[in-house]
Amino acid sequence: MELEGKVSLVTGASRGIGKAIALKLASFGARVAVNYVAIEASNKVDADNLVESITRLGGEAMSVEADIRDSEAAQAMVEQVNDKWSKIDILVNNAGINRDTLLLRMSDNAWDDVINTNLRGAYLCTKFALRSMMRQEWGRIISISSVAGIVGNTGQSNYAASKGGLIAFTKSVAREMGSRNITVNAVAPGYIITGMTDKLPSETREAMLAMIPLQRFGQPEDVAELVAFLASERAGYITGQVITIDGGVFP
Ligand code: NAP
Repeated sequence: MELEGKVSLVTGASRGIGKAIALKLASFGARVAVNYVAIEASNKVDADNLVESITRLGGEAMSVEADIRDSEAAQAMVEQVNDKWSKIDILVNNAGINRDTLLLRMSDNAWDDVINTNLRGAYLCTKFALRSMMRQEWGRIISISSVAGIVGNTGQSNYAASKGGLIAFTKSVAREMGSRNITVNAVAPGYIITGMTDKLPSETREAMLAMIPLQRFGQPEDVAELVAFLASERAGYITGQVITIDGGVFP
């Protein structure tokens, strides 16, 4: 229960990696705000089900709706968490989308949607959540980047730019916040089995598997373990780092 007493906010937590992170932080004793975006009615149901699961396991959680691209919504989300639990200790910038296509075929919307969700969304949530962390002189910001943000990827110039931007953002905010005892790190997953990767054609999946030294795709729980470590006291001297978690593809 090493996160007992801590308050966390995980964006895009109703499914996939975000859901695994929310469950892991709760299992370590943190209270968890589960962010979802109400694009479909089922998203609220998923978020509320997760809150119920955490509560049943003896944890404390709340669901909070916000489209993180929207400045007012992101601010209201942070205020809702602060109103309920009086602080935020841990922010996980997890929400993200992809709109993959080759650059020459890319629409402006596909570019803007991905940058606005993955980069602007993280910027907004970080800016608003930092206020509480600065007051208490303790905080953890962990952003989910991607190996695509380090090495690039064909068909993902928008996604890779957003995730590379997130890395540069992480390193900069880590420098700004070091004196406040707030650590700011990014994790860069490779191929993790979620709704995002389910969409890929089976030939692409097989080709990717052949490149992984550990000979399996990652599970959301693999990423959640790393995030929980970075959120803990044990990681108190790690900041401005990007930690790859990809089964050994890019050593
Ligand atoms: P996922 O299953 O598609 O989940 C993404 C989550 O983000 C969903 O809950 C989604 O909500 C939420 N979201 C999207 N736009 C949002 C917005 N505007 N406001 C609030 N929430 C929003 O994807 P995942 O695989 O778990 O990915 C989680 C993170 O890991 C992403 O940042 C992704 O880029 C990164 N990542 C994933 C992989 C991988 O292999 N899966 C690899 C590297 C990095 P809805 O349910 O409404 O869509």
